[in-house]
Amino acid sequence: MRKFLFLLVPFFIQANNLTKGIPFLENSSFTNWAHTHECHPAKTFYPKNREDVQKIITEAIERNIPVKAVGSGHSMNNLWCTTGYFIKTDLLNDIISIDKKNMTVTAQCGIKMKYLFRILAKKGLAFTNQGMMAEQSIVGALATGTHGTGQTGVLSDYVIGAELIDGNGNFLRINKDENAELLPLIRVNLGALGFIYSITLQCEPLFRLKHKKITSSWDKMLEGKKYLEWYHKHDYFMFLGHPLTDTILIYTYDRTTKPVKKRWKVQLKEKLLMNKVMNYLQIKMAHWLPGVTNEFLDRFFHMMEHKSIRDYSYKLLSPLKSPPEIEDYIEEEIAIPIEHFDSAMREFLALYKKYEDRDFELFGVISCRFVKGTKESPLAPAYGRDSAYISINSMRHFAAYESFFKDFEAIMTKYDGRPHWGKFNHLDQAQVLQLYGQQAIDFNTARAKLDPNHLFGNEYLQDLFG
Ligand SMILES: Cc1cc2nc3c(=O)[nH]c(=O)nc-3n(C[C@H](O)[C@H](O)[C@H](O)COP(=O)(O)OP(=O)(O)OC[C@H]3O[C@@H](n4cnc5c(N)ncnc54)[C@H](O)[C@@H]3O)c2cc1C
Repeated sequence: MRKFLFLLVPFFIQANNLTKGIPFLENSSFTNWAHTHECHPAKTFYPKNREDVQKIITEAIERNIPVKAVGSGHSMNNLWCTTGYFIKTDLLNDIISIDKKNMTVTAQCGIKMKYLFRILAKKGLAFTNQGMMAEQSIVGALATGTHGTGQTGVLSDYVIGAELIDGNGNFLRINKDENAELLPLIRVNLGALGFIYSITLQCEPLFRLKHKKITSSWDKMLEGKKYLEWYHKHDYFMFLGHPLTDTILIYTYDRTTKPVKKRWKVQLKEKLLMNKVMNYLQIKMAHWLPGVTNEFLDRFFHMMEHKSIRDYSYKLLSPLKSPPEIEDYIEEEIAIPIEHFDSAMREFLALYKKYEDRDFELFGVISCRFVKGTKESPLAPAYGRDSAYISINSMRHFAAYESFFKDFEAIMTKYDGRPHWGKFNHLDQAQVLQLYGQQAIDFNTARAKLDPNHLFGNEYLQDLFG
């Protein structure tokens, strides 16, 4: 099916230039998944191989036109936007090689993670970490530091190689033997260092997990830093909650050698309720029936509780399957050192209460995920510290969302909170420098070499990195 995607792309032929023959659209507009940002590139290209990409970039350099790659457009800010040449990676969606002995995979940049997971599983391999959803392109997900939950680093930590076409038009192989100094910096790169044509990732043998959902309460989770026990006890642990409901829904996943055990009721609830109804309904309710939301969520969390099931990790770790687009949806996620999670969360819950007392429209479910701190990816928000990622969401048409998000950021800033690059944030250059120090300086130094004229720059990168 993926092979025939190009049939859907209108095909125009351009005469007398380098990009002749490469499918493109002129003056079209694109919006991201959440419909919060719209972008109007001069031309949108659909390259089919590395030579096509090279030609587009060379032409852009010659004509001094900015370039931006876009994967699935799931980022919830404008980091993917440009007014120049837009490179859609949908047709760069193949696996290049799988090395079963060393358990590595090399794939073109645009392959969707859900396909990658399935192909790897057939070869007996899996990723150690996965985000809640697998609709993103692999390189788009890596660029923003996409993470899941559990005793592992973020997805980018597993990058062991890449092929890059930089802002000078040069083609570079990056791995432990070639341009090795760039390897850490390419892991979370915000699309700022050039176009990544292919990526190589370390996998592990395919594994199964035992998964349970249990309800508990905010108090029980925060009291005496109980969440640390959950985090250390389980291979993967996260929870969802709402500040105005006492109930929270805990997810645990533990490695097992036992065979797959499914429960049809659990599958049905997951497919229909969690994926299709829950987000949509709770947001509608927050708007039209604000008083009912808490009651609804409380019941909903109890309904989703289940006994253990067992399945392959790639099937369980990304429970959001093709979530329906929610127009105007805004989400911000901030990673703080795990030891401060209870204090930060209590302050946040109090903040929420203050807003609620002012009778404003409510916000959605909060997700709390926990990630191991490593030193593999300098710009990962979890760099160097075990982290709790707290994610809040709202709708852009809800009154007071902006001031609420700013107040949330103010609390998390006290705890050295580092926002997710691919979600709503108010970061500026000074804050990036303060939060990442030498890592941000090293990133900018590499950027100055690889993209001296900021061919891959845009408004977002300008605000955050200059
Ligand atoms: C419903 C939903 C669920 C989500 N769940 C999670 C989650 O569980 N965990 C999490 O951490 N995040 C999550 N996210 C955020 C998401 O993972 C990131 O925003 C991710 O970057 C999106 O991938 P994409 O392919 O859509 O990238 P895009 O948004 O298209 O692009 C992201 C960045 O990558 C750059 N880029 C893309 N391809 C290339 C390339 N070939 N070369 C160079 N640069 C490139 C773009 O220019 C841009 O700067 C979620 C988002 C949504 C909408």
